[in-house]
Amino acid sequence: MGLEDLYQEIILDHYKKPRNPGRLDGARVEVHHYNPVCGDELVLGLRLDGERVAAVAVDAKGCSISQAAASVMTEQVLGRPLPEALDQAEAFRRMMHGEGEPDEELLGDGIAFMGVARYPVRVKCALLGWMAFKDAAARAAGGQGGGETVYGEEQDETAVRAARGGRGPGGQAAEGESPRTGTGREGTT
Ligand code: ZN
Repeated sequence: MGLEDLYQEIILDHYKKPRNPGRLDGARVEVHHYNPVCGDELVLGLRLDGERVAAVAVDAKGCSISQAAASVMTEQVLGRPLPEALDQAEAFRRMMHGEGEPDEELLGDGIAFMGVARYPVRVKCALLGWMAFKDAAARAAGGQGGGETVYGEEQDETAVRAARGGRGPGGQAAEGESPRTGTGREGTT
């Protein structure tokens, strides 16, 4: 069996038998993420125990790549310290964007999605579960509730920084952001 076949097997296995599926009872945070490009959507429930990922579940609808990747993600992060889980998320993101050599140790079964990086449209599918996890982690760490998010990479990067830094260097991440930016511009028609 070649490597490509093995990777196919892993993806198919997770698609057919998703790990940690459904809604999480007693989730601390629940987020809804949607990938409009493909129509994938998922609800991710997360509970942290201090800095550890105590429970995670994903209720996913959509293509096989998105569902399988989300399943692998839950397996990867469950029981891990949050900073490690976020390192895994970053390793997966880098692989999907072809940045550097994939870190197999961090990626685990996620390495199976390496070939997906060749198909830009599917990259969003593969990243959806990880995006949702990072969003939920940032919300949980920041004491926020759940939320609804349509795929957006910039917003995702902010979430990672927030989750990693906690408060960020020198105060709230939102500090210095003008409340006027982005609004009121169109009001002068
Ligand atoms: Zn998809």
